[in-house]
Amino acid sequence: MSDNRYIDTRGVCTQPVPFTEAVIDGLAEGGGLYVPERIPSLSVSEICALAELPYAQRAARVYRAFDVDLTDEQLTAVCEGAYGDQFDTDAICPITSLDDSTHILELWHGPTSAFKDMALQCLPRFFSTSAQVLRDRGQLDDHHMILVATSGDTGKAALEGFRDVDGVSIGVMYPEGGVSDIQYKQMATQGGKNVQVWAVRGNFDDCQTGAKRVFGDATFAKDIHERFGIALSSANSINWGRLMPQIVYYLSAYAQLVADGKVAQGDPIDVCVPTGNFGNILAAYYAKRIGAPIRQLFCASNENRVLTDFINTGTYDISNRTFVKTPSPSMDILVSSNLERQLFELTGRDAQAIAGWMADLNSTRAFRVDRETFGKLRAEFRADAVDNETCLATIKEVFEKHGYLLDPHTAVAYRVAENLRDDDVPVLVASTAHWAKFGNNVYRALEGLSLDESLPDEVAKLTGCQLNALLAERTGAGPVPAGLAELDDRPIRFTEVIDGTVDAIENAVCSFLGAQQG
Ligand SMILES: *Cc1c(COP(=O)(O)O)cnc(C)c1O
Repeated sequence: MSDNRYIDTRGVCTQPVPFTEAVIDGLAEGGGLYVPERIPSLSVSEICALAELPYAQRAARVYRAFDVDLTDEQLTAVCEGAYGDQFDTDAICPITSLDDSTHILELWHGPTSAFKDMALQCLPRFFSTSAQVLRDRGQLDDHHMILVATSGDTGKAALEGFRDVDGVSIGVMYPEGGVSDIQYKQMATQGGKNVQVWAVRGNFDDCQTGAKRVFGDATFAKDIHERFGIALSSANSINWGRLMPQIVYYLSAYAQLVADGKVAQGDPIDVCVPTGNFGNILAAYYAKRIGAPIRQLFCASNENRVLTDFINTGTYDISNRTFVKTPSPSMDILVSSNLERQLFELTGRDAQAIAGWMADLNSTRAFRVDRETFGKLRAEFRADAVDNETCLATIKEVFEKHGYLLDPHTAVAYRVAENLRDDDVPVLVASTAHWAKFGNNVYRALEGLSLDESLPDEVAKLTGCQLNALLAERTGAGPVPAGLAELDDRPIRFTEVIDGTVDAIENAVCSFLGAQQG
């Protein structure tokens, strides 16, 4: 068994657990998040040597450095399965350089065209391998059902990641009428033997609240354990098995920039990340800790700018904030859950401080970090926010200047990078979605329409696929990835609509589990 074990950010768990248990548990007891006791170090030349390997082996090398309790054979199988030909390029996440010092890390070449694939192709394989390891050790009897509430992107990426994975089934709930045509069809046409999708009457909040109540229902947990031998689990971004795969692409990107002669070995870069739950940018921070020459991390927000305000003031305050509708919905966030891990690291792993701040957040909807922590935060991060209009204008500007289409999330990051960068340090911008996932707003951007303006009738009547085809033709920015382009031709498989109450969700879960076993 490995020596690198997992402790929790609130200091509740007295016994550190191995990687496999951290993956299966997801959240630590007491609500804290797992982090490894030891963050590995790699020299710059070890990092640059990653460029000689195919991506799957780059990932395996990094996981090995974290000393996970899986065998080399298991790790190889996980990585080759996760980063294979379900991606549309051997590079997995290629870099497109807009000029000598602006590099776009394209994290959306996976099966659902969103960056969530980078982690959610790997997590399910970690999950089923870890479950097998624990079963072999006699520490686990149950199989698992993953229950996900989604506002769009996560649900599809989770379905695709967990489809046909041994010992796991997955159910996804999305708000009825609350996702785009493309997102709806991506989920409703999902293939796989172990998957189920429900539309929930209500909004995303209703879905999420419903899911949380089901997770908190001990009687229900006991019931499905006895009837089906199933334990519920979630696939959200607080799972270490979802975070670690994200560290790989920052190390890999640095190696690639050096191998391609775009950066001299050892020279620093800045990294700019469009941020919501803080998972992606935290992975960049860990890549820096491991040894990647990253100078600063730029945290990019949309109009839901709680993180930008936090990094600029040291106060995280959602007591008086309302949710704003933006063209970059995957960054619309109030509580940014992975920030907890970041604060744990910045305080030198002071679990008591974290527990206090999280309690403050719970009771007063706000917390303020101490001066020393604020100083450390400012040394690592800079932050800026972009309003809706500027986001759309940026898509148009970059297309006109470089002939390259950004999705609205990446456009926020690009603008922030332009605002914060120094001329002599190259910037790597994390690009988190293919533009065709958000075709409506890309159309608005290119035509100079604002977010609230309705599309012209002849465009509004198009399906998402048809609109993307039109955009691809007009801009020459094709082809649209096959998984998105062919959605209109695939049969709708899931049509069930349920209420967002605990009873309705639990009933739906039970009939799905019954059908799975029957
Ligand atoms: C999830 C997501 C983000 C936010 O990433 P975090 O890791 O939650 O900060 C940004 N852009 C897109 C397209 C996403 O799907």
